[in-house]
Order: sequence, then structure tokens, then C-alpha cells
Amino acid sequence: MEQGGNDAPVVFLNDIHRHYRQGEGTLTILNGAKLALWAGQSVALVAPSGSGKSTLLHIAGLLEHPDSGEVYIGGAPTSVLSDAERTQIRRTDIGFVYQSHRLLPEFSALENVMLPQMIRGLPRKETVARSKEILAYLGLGERFTHRPAELSGGEQQRVAIARAVANAPQVLLADEPTGNLDPHTADHVFGALMQLVKATQVAMLIATHNMQLAGQMDRRVSLDGGQIVELD
Ligand code: ADP
Ligand code: MG
Repeated sequence: MEQGGNDAPVVFLNDIHRHYRQGEGTLTILNGAKLALWAGQSVALVAPSGSGKSTLLHIAGLLEHPDSGEVYIGGAPTSVLSDAERTQIRRTDIGFVYQSHRLLPEFSALENVMLPQMIRGLPRKETVARSKEILAYLGLGERFTHRPAELSGGEQQRVAIARAVANAPQVLLADEPTGNLDPHTADHVFGALMQLVKATQVAMLIATHNMQLAGQMDRRVSLDGGQIVELD
């Protein structure tokens, strides 16, 4: 992606609509949602279960198409792109962290972080060095060869974060990333995410129910009737 500079948000969701068919009728989940994510800014998305947080994150991450509206990445509209072009943007510009780590169980922490870079076509030697650097940065310098089952919940999530940022994305989307963790571990994982925003100037959107963590972020938004509302 071209560097958007300071004039364009990293991600801009404009007038996003998303409906699901439900029996005879339709269920409206997003109804004109509008949200800009800026480089170096962390945004908490705090809204009840079923209000459309995951749907919004999937649309922002180009994992799902809206029924109408436009997703701009670095100021460029994405609805005109082919599937291959969308996939390419997902690989290089977007990092995604889920509630469950979704690491590949047969691979080590290091290999899990290397994979997205290998898929992108970076030389193996470079991906090893870079992956070790990121894992060490997230406090996992002693865990390179561990498989996911040999890691604690907090460590698994930090490996998942390392994997998400391995290709130095412009935006990091996290869907209740601390939802499965005890409060102390949640603080640690959250700290890792905040540290990354400051260090890399990534734009970050985190769906969370944790008000205490949301309170530490730059901005808080919610979903109300399918639209984004600013909190505070
Ligand atoms: P949240 O992440 O805030 O809990 P979701 O975005 O997962 O909310 O879902 C919002 C609503 O959309 C829920 O009521 C859910 O049941 C519905 N929904 C999500 N995905 C689908 C789908 N593929 N088909 C039908 N309904 C869906
Ligand atoms: Mg959800």
C-alpha cells in the first residue's frame, strides 16, 4: 500500500451496511456505520454481544464484503479490487488477532510467525531474523521452539499478535483478543498491543468488553443501531 500520509486515514469505513437474511425477513447488523482509523491511534470498540463488532472488523479487514458502502484503505476504495488484490492487501497491510489464538498446532511459535512472511515471498533467512526479533520484543525470546500447546494462554496470544504484525501492517484489528484470558494476563497482552501501536504507528481497532482496558486507549466507540457512535 502507498503511504497515505497524514491526510488520509489508514482505514475509512464509509456508510457501511450489512444485512443477513433471516427466514422471511432480513436482520440489519450495520446500518450506515462510519469510522476512520488513523496511524498510531488505538480505538476501542465497546458494544454488547450481537451488535455487529465482529462483522465490522471482518469488513474493515477485507474478510467480508459490505452490502453497500465503501472501505478505503490508505485512501483508496477497495470495492473495485479483485479477490486477488484484496488478498494481497490483507497479507501486507492488515493484521488480525482473534479471541482464540488460531495458531497452527504442528508448528513452533517461530514458524507460526514466519509463515505470513514466507507466504508473502520474503527470503527464509530474513523471516527467521525478523520473527525472532518480534517474538523477543513481545517477551517471548525463550519460546521460539515451543508449539502452541506448550505455551500459556497469554503467550499464545502474544505469538498470535507477533504473527499479525509480522508483515508490518498498516492496521491491526483485534476481535476480543483478551476475552479468554484472566485479568492479569489480559493486562499483559493488552500492554503488548499498546506497545506495538506506539512503536510502529499501526492503526489499531480492538473489540473488547473490558472497560478498564478500553479506558487506556486513545478513543472509544460503540455500535448503536448499526451505526458507530463516539463514547466519552
Ligand atoms: P458481535 O461480534 O458484536 O457479537 P457479530 O458481528 O458477530 O456481533 O454478529 C452480529 C449479529 O449478526 C448477531 O446477531 C449474529 O447472530 C448475526 N450474524 C453474524 N454472522 C451471521 C451470518 N453469517 N448469518 C446470519 N447472521 C449472522
Ligand atoms: Mg464478536
